[in-house]
Amino acid sequence: MKIICIGRNYADHAKELNDEVPEEPVVFMKPDSAILRKNNPFYIPSFAKEFHHEVELVVRINRIGKNIAPKFANRYFDEIGLGVDFTARDLQNELKAKGLPWEKCKAFDGSAVISDFVKKDSLGDVNNLDFHLNVNGEIRQKGNTSQMIFSIDDIVAYVSKFFTLKIGDLIYSGTPAGVAKVNMEERLEGYIGERKMFDFMVK
Ligand code: MG
Repeated sequence: MKIICIGRNYADHAKELNDEVPEEPVVFMKPDSAILRKNNPFYIPSFAKEFHHEVELVVRINRIGKNIAPKFANRYFDEIGLGVDFTARDLQNELKAKGLPWEKCKAFDGSAVISDFVKKDSLGDVNNLDFHLNVNGEIRQKGNTSQMIFSIDDIVAYVSKFFTLKIGDLIYSGTPAGVAKVNMEERLEGYIGERKMFDFMVK
């Protein structure tokens, strides 16, 4: 399986990082070794100084697809989870400045936290889902999928122009504003609406 991620999909987050709001989705990938499941702790790696949380809605692909039309994109996923796209921000800034690829700052082990998945029909309108991240019990990031620059259907269609989507592939759909450095012994809890999706410690 593969993990496809969309960057800068919320205008308020693009702004907080002084990035341009993109005209086309910003796409990058993580390998399956990046996955961190089952509320296991995130161990802060030693290769950078500043690891940021980015809470994101994640869709799981359930059919093979290529060149999917946006109006049919909703047939290619039926489960949704909540994840964290951990990012070594200081390293990312260096790589961005040099025009180098992002893998080292985005695709390292443990960088793709993922919750269990729930049926999308149990959540209501996918294009109007509230989600948030608490750090030590306080709300740190909060978004609604209606604020996305590119909707989930648009993203599925767009990425399928480049990559054949396969069953089990995950798409991280971008993060709202409020990203910040994590510190040891912090507790991260993610919610879609009122439903708790993940709860893990930073070590
Ligand atoms: Mg992200």
